[in-house]
Amino acid sequence: MTEARMFDNTPRQGEIIKTRYRKITTPLPHPDTLGVLAALKAWEPVSMSGQPPIVWDRAQGFQVYDAAGNCWIDFSSGVLVANCGHNPPELKAALIDQIENGVIFSYCFPNRPRAELVTKLVKLAGGRIDRCFLLTTGGEAVENAIKLARTWGKATGGNSKRVIVSFEGAFHGRTLGAQLAGGIPALKDWIGMENTGFVTVPFPDEATGKNVHFADFLAALASRNIAEADVCGVIMESYQGGTGRFYPQPFMQELRRWADAHDALYIADEVQAGFGRTGRMFTFQHYDVEPDMICCGKGLSGGLPISAVLGNSRFMSLYKPGEMTSTHSGHPLCARAALTSLQLIEEKRLVENSRNMGLLLHEFLKKLRESNTGIISAVNGRGLLAAILFRRPTGEPDGEITMRVVDYCVRHGVMLYAPLGPGGGTVKINPPLVITEEPLREGLQVFADAVQASRILA
Ligand code: PMP
Repeated sequence: MTEARMFDNTPRQGEIIKTRYRKITTPLPHPDTLGVLAALKAWEPVSMSGQPPIVWDRAQGFQVYDAAGNCWIDFSSGVLVANCGHNPPELKAALIDQIENGVIFSYCFPNRPRAELVTKLVKLAGGRIDRCFLLTTGGEAVENAIKLARTWGKATGGNSKRVIVSFEGAFHGRTLGAQLAGGIPALKDWIGMENTGFVTVPFPDEATGKNVHFADFLAALASRNIAEADVCGVIMESYQGGTGRFYPQPFMQELRRWADAHDALYIADEVQAGFGRTGRMFTFQHYDVEPDMICCGKGLSGGLPISAVLGNSRFMSLYKPGEMTSTHSGHPLCARAALTSLQLIEEKRLVENSRNMGLLLHEFLKKLRESNTGIISAVNGRGLLAAILFRRPTGEPDGEITMRVVDYCVRHGVMLYAPLGPGGGTVKINPPLVITEEPLREGLQVFADAVQASRILA
């Protein structure tokens, strides 16, 4: 287990802030919310306690509020969920309409929102995709993709064709299959199984120039005694969540060709990368490649729990009627939320806004890095996704300064989730895609102040 770093729950009065977009006038966390924090501490596993102790009371657009009326510019989107903005009126209206005039649950009995959503998602994905299976969480989508790839491998290549390849540093969820496919050894300690048919290979890292050639991928398989023909699937986050790193495009294109030649499925895990986050509808589109399968979640619905596996009928239809289902697959309320969120992303041109605001975001962070090279080792990402990597002079990730930066931001009206990535050295900025220039600049200035203040404290 990694060492826990916790935010302080003791209410503290800081600077009073009142701007057009931020308001912090009380001690934080607000004393009235201590009961909620205490109940969570008393009854939940400690694993749920890592975030800044602000009790979210309501959220609108790119802002989040507590019950005392303190207001934050949201740089978290929850956790890359509120792509279409928090609680847009259209989403609220669709949910109310569904509750008042439709079903709120139908198991696998057909419902209209489910039909509309699978149609919409298949068309949006294009390429090889002609089927969509709806689920509830990102982890579930990953589990299902792994199952389908292995089922496909067995059907086409027999029992030995069951190897799933993933990348070092990858995060695909916290369930069994998803963690077998994950590339963070500490997270899979609990599994304790050998010869599972999961193998991780080095990430092709453009920043260091290491393993960027496709030959390195093949060499890594060989050194792990994996026959290329035994690979049934390669799963990859379209950018690595822990560090915001992207893959080199030539690598991706060679991977696509190799996967076709070996009848292995290229699975794009778009759970956090999808729906406009990096300035394209799907992040794999930056690489100009067509995945065989796409896992979606988070930003798909703007807030309700729904995920999707998109793929092709040659493997999506291997299971017979009733054999691949889930109680809440195509849940009508969640499907309505997803349809509305997708409509908003298109109508409000949020993918374009992510691209444009992303230019501003990255220009700002590039300058910030240039004046802080001693502590910020890299700023990765595209569109409204930025991962800022903090390092100690020794080169190790600095998980302490990141805590101070996040704490400062939250206390000054900019909502960020806890640091993550190797050694907790990464802070991510990913506001709802509805953010506009003024609040983005204001929030970024707070971030720059936070870096300055955290260095002084160091
Ligand atoms: N894949 C990726 C790339 C993710 O970032 C996550 C969640 N952070 C998951 C899968 C798992 O999603 P969930 O938490 O909804 O199970």
